[in-house]
Amino acid sequence: MQNCNNSYVPIDQNFILKIFKQTLNGLKYLAGKSILHRNIEPDSLLLDESNNVKISGFNISALYYDNNPENKNKESALFTNYTAVGKLYFIAPEIKIGKKYDFKIDMFSLGLTMLCLMSKKYPIEVWRNRETNQTIRKINKDDIEHIADLICSKFPSVLRVNLISLEVRGNCFINKNKVYISPKESFEHSRIAIQKLLRNGIDVGLYNYPLCNVDPGYWFLCKKSISPNKVRYPNECDICNVKEKCGGMFITTMKAAKPEIFPI
Ligand code: SF4
Repeated sequence: MQNCNNSYVPIDQNFILKIFKQTLNGLKYLAGKSILHRNIEPDSLLLDESNNVKISGFNISALYYDNNPENKNKESALFTNYTAVGKLYFIAPEIKIGKKYDFKIDMFSLGLTMLCLMSKKYPIEVWRNRETNQTIRKINKDDIEHIADLICSKFPSVLRVNLISLEVRGNCFINKNKVYISPKESFEHSRIAIQKLLRNGIDVGLYNYPLCNVDPGYWFLCKKSISPNKVRYPNECDICNVKEKCGGMFITTMKAAKPEIFPI
C-alpha cells in the first residue's frame, strides 16, 4: 500500500474498490473466528503478484472473548477488549477513550485506510509524525537492511524509524517457532540498517531490547517501553550495573522465550 501513497502513481477507483471488498471479506472471516484485528491501516494491507490483498499486522490482534466463552482460557484472551492498541491515527474513538469495543473498530480503521488510498494522503497527523515502526521477526530479519535503503531513498519525509524486538504474545506466541528471534539476534540483523538510517540523518529508536543484548555503542538509541507495567527483570538483573538504564523485557517474552541476558 505504500506505493499507493506515492502521489505520482494514479490509483484506479475500481482497484480501491477491489482492495476494500477483499479486506472486508478478510475481516468478515476474522470476525467469524472471533478475532479482532486492531491494526488495520495502509501498512497492514499487502498485495500479492496478482494485486490481491493479504492482511498482515496481526501482532496486536486479540480474541473477542465475549463472543466465545471458550476463548477465555487462550493466551491472547489475556488482553482485554479495553486495551488501547493500534496506530494512533487509525484507531476508533472508543479505543481512544478506553471504552469496551468490538468488531466495529476494524471497520472504522478500514474506512480511514480507504480514505488514505483515495486521497493519497495519510491523516495529517501521521505526516507530521513522520515516524515508522518495524517489528523484527524471523521472517523479515534479512530484509531490514533493504527496508532501511527503501526508507532512505524513497521516503524523505520519514524522520524516525523505530525498530522493535518482537514481543511474544497472541499470535506470536502461537507461532513462536516460525516468527520469534531473540533481541540479541534481532539487533545483529539490524546493525547495518541502523548505521544506514543514522548516516542519512534519520533518527532510530530501539524498543524491547535489553541493554545487554545490544552493543554499548548503540545504547543511546534504546528506549524504555511505553508499557512499563508489562516489563520485568529476571533475577540475574539484580547484580547488573545498568539495571536503572535498562528497559528489561516484557513478562510474556520472558516467560515464553527466555531470552539470554548477560549482567553487566
Ligand atoms: S542483565 Fe538485566 S538489567 Fe542488565 S542489561 Fe541485561 S536485562 Fe538489563
